[in-house]
Amino acid sequence: MSDKLDFITEELERLKAEHLFINIRVMESPADGWMIVDGKKVLNFCTNNYLGLANHPRLKEAAKKAVDDWGVGPAAVRTIAGTTRLHLELEKRLAAFKGVEDALFVQSGFNANQAAIPPLVGKGDVIFSDRLNHASIIDGARLSRAKIIVYEHCDPADLESKVQEHLSQYRRGLVVTDGVFSMDGDVAPLDKIYEVAETYGLMTMVDDAHGEGVLGRGGRGIVDHFGLHGKFDVEIGTLSKAFGVVGGVIAGKRLIVDYIRQKARPFLFSSAPTPADTAACLAAVDILEESEELVERLWENARYLKAGMDALGFDTGHSQTPILPIMLGEAGLAKTFSRKLFEQGVFAMGIGFPTVPRGLARIRVMNTAAHTKDDLDFGLEAFAKVGRELGVIS
Ligand SMILES: *Cc1c(COP(=O)(O)O)cnc(C)c1O
Repeated sequence: MSDKLDFITEELERLKAEHLFINIRVMESPADGWMIVDGKKVLNFCTNNYLGLANHPRLKEAAKKAVDDWGVGPAAVRTIAGTTRLHLELEKRLAAFKGVEDALFVQSGFNANQAAIPPLVGKGDVIFSDRLNHASIIDGARLSRAKIIVYEHCDPADLESKVQEHLSQYRRGLVVTDGVFSMDGDVAPLDKIYEVAETYGLMTMVDDAHGEGVLGRGGRGIVDHFGLHGKFDVEIGTLSKAFGVVGGVIAGKRLIVDYIRQKARPFLFSSAPTPADTAACLAAVDILEESEELVERLWENARYLKAGMDALGFDTGHSQTPILPIMLGEAGLAKTFSRKLFEQGVFAMGIGFPTVPRGLARIRVMNTAAHTKDDLDFGLEAFAKVGRELGVIS
């Protein structure tokens, strides 16, 4: 007899047959250059902990103090009783760091997109969205009920022709793009996108999740990298990657941030970030403002690792940032590669559909400022060994 839940069993079987079933590994130590994963000490090439702040003593100290001063939970949404002085201070500091008028701190980068897009566009409006935008942008765009028109990846000419073709049928338009694309490590041509948006009067939004703490002066992000201060209407960010903690930020023009405070459903209907997280984020801003050392070390490591992989003969795609894809093609190969790396003491996950398109499976290598040159050499040796064994390189 068929069961009403058979469809689930069938779907899970299909994922396994296509090598797309995700086996979730268990971390048994803090996120750092090396980690204990499933009981084994391995070199960690998997986390977005770009600057090594996730286990930084100053952030941990700040979080502990905040627990003593403020307790553990916010006990309310931001608009009722969940906004503390800590939240306001972080927002002020983030706005100053990024050189924008105002910033709103929310629970995550994912939430930031759900929060920021629907208040700006709705039924009768149009969103122009890069083909490879992050899932949280896609979902935020869908939630808004605006028409979504996808333009080709990092292609301002295609954006312009789609705008010319469609914009007149809608009330208003928004263009939205990832800043750094999380699976390829390439950078959106923000200056060109801005020119198109200016020409046609579109609102502009960039999700800088992988650019904050990485691009721009001292990690001030992609808008700083392109010198577009005051020009982009909204910058979405996360405190969960380079900042090493958790949380999201909506930054930009005061008018817009004020408006989002009144309208955003994740802000109005979900509890505030915790005092410990907020205080740890503040400590991260302190560190970034004091010195560019960690950002420089991250880039030095990234250049070293990319040069090493290229010299070994791996296809590293078109990365322009510390995100380093090792292109393998089939999901099964990426899975096997990752498993063999793990046996060699290197933790680097294979990534397949739906996170990347079918046939473009890869290992994504994420180095951090917490890695030493010796660590990177250890990693390169393991990649060389597994790459030769599987016939990916000769
Ligand atoms: C990681 C990421 C997010 C999600 O951020 P979280 O803080 O982890 O929720 C959003 N947008 C982009 C582009 C990302 O890469």
